[in-house]
Amino acid sequence: MAALTMRNVVKRFGDVETIHGVDLDIRHKEFVVFVGPSGCGKTTLLRLIAGLESITEGDLHIGDTRANDIDASERGVAMVFQSYALYPHMSVAQNMGFGLKMSGMPAGEVRKRVDHAAQTLQLEALLDRKPKHLSGGQRQRVAIGRAIVRQPEVFLFDEPLSNLDAELRVEMRVQLQELHHKLDATMIYVTHDQVEAMTMADKIVVLRDGVIQQVGAPLELYERPCNSFVAGFIGSPRMNFIDGAVSEVGEQRLIIKLADQDQTSVVLDRTPQRPVAPGDSVSVGVRPEHLHEGHEGDTVIRVAVDVTERLGNVTFIYGRFANLERFVIQADALSPTQSGDDATVSFDTASSHVFDADGQPIL
Ligand code: ATP
Repeated sequence: MAALTMRNVVKRFGDVETIHGVDLDIRHKEFVVFVGPSGCGKTTLLRLIAGLESITEGDLHIGDTRANDIDASERGVAMVFQSYALYPHMSVAQNMGFGLKMSGMPAGEVRKRVDHAAQTLQLEALLDRKPKHLSGGQRQRVAIGRAIVRQPEVFLFDEPLSNLDAELRVEMRVQLQELHHKLDATMIYVTHDQVEAMTMADKIVVLRDGVIQQVGAPLELYERPCNSFVAGFIGSPRMNFIDGAVSEVGEQRLIIKLADQDQTSVVLDRTPQRPVAPGDSVSVGVRPEHLHEGHEGDTVIRVAVDVTERLGNVTFIYGRFANLERFVIQADALSPTQSGDDATVSFDTASSHVFDADGQPIL
């Protein structure tokens, strides 16, 4: 059983603190994804767990054992890197078994584990090939195989799919989830791609500047983001944030005037969770799929359309509205709207979010 906990974990490189007191609980066999923009500390956090960096302050437990001072090779974790780092002169089987052989494991046992991993990853037919005769996806599977043969309790993946083309990434996402079902192991996966996070994770950890913003199931984060950063980061295309100001506050009622030419009113029949007063700056968050062409919704706006993207099953309309130069609407596949149009668009206030000037949710 490999549950994993971090308590007040701090990492400093010299004088520079990059991880600022992280608390995290990961259950046995959970698939956890760390996401966040470049430089937020995802890889550092993973390397602290792997034992490739030392923890400056705080505690890391893997299972019941405090792991801070345990050597990387003794932690029961295996890491799969973005660059597959395969040995070019070795066959697939030799690449997968090399670490075990170096640790002194008898050749028969190494072969057994390599065969088993090859079967799990459908690499049996490729065991004698050299890496240069493999596709990118096959190389990545060999790199994963090298981790599997060690039979770790925790797998750590550092952006393992970023060198693959789009189609192969989708395929590998599915394969990694299948692998997770087959293996009795915890998986921690780093990516800056929120689609990977949404599709694979049991639990997503959103990081920003070395601080955890929110931890939760994908749809929980999507529907109830704890601040405007998470709201903007989770979801593709991203949420539209429209500037506005509070014009009326009452029991079970908040009226906001948007900063568009028409000063459109947004009437929300909900009680604010935080104190707000008329005149306060806010931003109204509306996801592209919650906008409809036409008057169906209760808030109607006019959008100056710049570009339409027709994907077959859906059309994305990009235009300008209020403060936004890139206002995005997810419209029907057959939407007649074209660039240069002034589109009538509406949304239901029930599906909109409102954040205060600090990015905290008001409703
Ligand atoms: P990316 O998605 O670009 O890989 P990340 O979220 O994984 O980013 P990290 O690589 O963990 O971010 O880096 C977090 C911060 O720590 C950055 O500011 C980075 O410059 C700093 N950092 C990472 N490794 C070191 C190091 N060895 N020495 C000094 N600073 C470091």
